[in-house]
Amino acid sequence: MIETEEQLAGRKLADGEVFHFACHAGLSCFNTCCAMKRLPVLPYDLLRLCRGLGLKSPEVLERYLELDLDPGSGWPVLRLKLDDKGRCPLVGDKGCTVYPHRPAACRTYPLARAVAAGPGGRPGGETFLRQEAPACLGWREERPMTVDSWVAEQGLLPYQEANDALLGLFFHPRRRGRRLELEPAQIHAVVMALYNLDVFRRLAGQKDFAKRFKLPPQQVRQALRRDEDLLLLGRDWLLKQLFA
Ligand code: SF4
Ligand code: SF4
Repeated sequence: MIETEEQLAGRKLADGEVFHFACHAGLSCFNTCCAMKRLPVLPYDLLRLCRGLGLKSPEVLERYLELDLDPGSGWPVLRLKLDDKGRCPLVGDKGCTVYPHRPAACRTYPLARAVAAGPGGRPGGETFLRQEAPACLGWREERPMTVDSWVAEQGLLPYQEANDALLGLFFHPRRRGRRLELEPAQIHAVVMALYNLDVFRRLAGQKDFAKRFKLPPQQVRQALRRDEDLLLLGRDWLLKQLFA
């Protein structure tokens, strides 16, 4: 998790700046970059992976992900578990096997996106940075792109929207600048409410959930119908659990 400007790596792109990039199976580097990186899987990434794989969240967590603690912030983070050859567990001979549901980090590359948390947890401005790696031949292709055309082409908007909705939790004013020291039970609660949605749904579905945690009954009903709303309910439940 990027907490300060100094942690940003890569050259910032100016507004409307054109860069040249294309990634395709004709390049000799094709598929080689889906290895040796324990990529972060954010809450909405996991929701989409479950949907794409047709699996419940406990199964996806067990098969493909490992738990880590972000050294700067102390938040639990999930990362793709590499196979014994150091490859992403979701890569196949012809590329990504979950391409329509691939995580935001995979969609955003060859850029990186950093967002500052503004007042009330709203996004306070975003920055895109070039992530140039010598082995990535896509940078030698002549196709002109801008940040906007890249975001549209890669289907990033719902990912950015879902990630930005969690800024108020991750950068809560009560912790900004300090590392969280979460108890094991709190780590478990974060993983359940943000990632293990099939388990959190069971808790949210209990008859007295809204009353017990002082959450609007209408929000709870809506969350039980749609996973995107369940994630927002998980955020609001955690705000109470961790920062009330
Ligand atoms: S062009 Fe870059 S992103 Fe595409 S496969 Fe090659 S190394 Fe990976
Ligand atoms: S999820 Fe897909 S695109 Fe991302 S690293 Fe794995 S195989 Fe590559």
